[in-house]
Amino acid sequence: MDKPFLDKLRKIDPYVPGEQPQATDVVKLNANENPYPPAPGVQEVLRTFDASSLALYPDANGRRLKAALAGRFGVKPTQVFLGNGSDDVLALAFQSFFCSDQPILYPDITYSFYPVWCDLFRIPYETVPLDADFCVNVRDYDRPNGGIVLPNPNAPTGRGVSLDFLEDLLQHNADCVVIIDEAYVDFGAQSAVPLLNKYENLLIVQTMSKSRSLAGMRIGYALGSETLIATLEAVKNSYNSYTMDALALAVGEASVKEEAYFQDTCRKVIATRERTAEELRALGFTVLPSLTNFLFVTHPKKDASVIFEYLRQKNIFIRYFKLPRIDNYLRITVGTDGQMDRLFAALKEFL
Ligand code: PMP
Repeated sequence: MDKPFLDKLRKIDPYVPGEQPQATDVVKLNANENPYPPAPGVQEVLRTFDASSLALYPDANGRRLKAALAGRFGVKPTQVFLGNGSDDVLALAFQSFFCSDQPILYPDITYSFYPVWCDLFRIPYETVPLDADFCVNVRDYDRPNGGIVLPNPNAPTGRGVSLDFLEDLLQHNADCVVIIDEAYVDFGAQSAVPLLNKYENLLIVQTMSKSRSLAGMRIGYALGSETLIATLEAVKNSYNSYTMDALALAVGEASVKEEAYFQDTCRKVIATRERTAEELRALGFTVLPSLTNFLFVTHPKKDASVIFEYLRQKNIFIRYFKLPRIDNYLRITVGTDGQMDRLFAALKEFL
């Protein structure tokens, strides 16, 4: 049958998130989730939350959570923007700041959602190749552009850049918005927060999904100048006033108040990451230095896709990207020591 309306539908290749296996006895190391539970204060909010309050709309401005984040980062509440996970914040930032005809720039190997948003919002872009060691060269960004987005540390490589690098990047790109995606920054990289009050064109995006064990709650935020944040608010309020639900706002606020638990969880993940890197090197893997909660590895003698499939059969889920330059690499999320022991045992068997 003829369906002439089909020509008018949007055609797009969507982002594909890590698989969420349904089996119970799995070792899930494929989505950079945190293996530890959220802070006790978060659990208390969930136990005592007043369901009848859900009859009302949430605070569209998220004042309490903004105040908590502003306090933690030493900025004004008007320098904080909230969203339904940092994907929501990034998507709104792309729409708010990448509005010129010039291409935006980001690394050739990076978070695979960026090209999807460029396609969705019809933003021109150019990718900038990482060097042979997967490092970013700041001078590659000295050229006319419509904006820059850079994850620090980068994903899926795990490599970070220094504060000097970020300042250099900002100094040479004062005529566009520079977004630093700090999804993994709490696992040992240098945050751009100290540069916030010096560079009005800097937007930092962070998430509670990784270091605060709240991927299921969807809480992301941005820190920036009042000008950038006001623009983001205007775009958000032209689209959906209530991206953050009442429970997420309360949970986020409780999490920010638990600094000691947060620091302790990050320390545990970092310790397991370093131990995992050592074990994998002993098994013959090349392991990139990582400042994240995952490791990016390759084996000189074994095909990454074969290792991936072997582990999958054993109910151990890691991530494999069939993409140029990285199709012989594997991304392994850092789990608990017990989960990593199961990974090592399976790899020993395979090798
Ligand atoms: N940025 C990067 C680099 C990521 O890897 C992720 C996780 N997929 C995100 C942003 C989005 O995380 P979330 O939406 O859970 O905050």
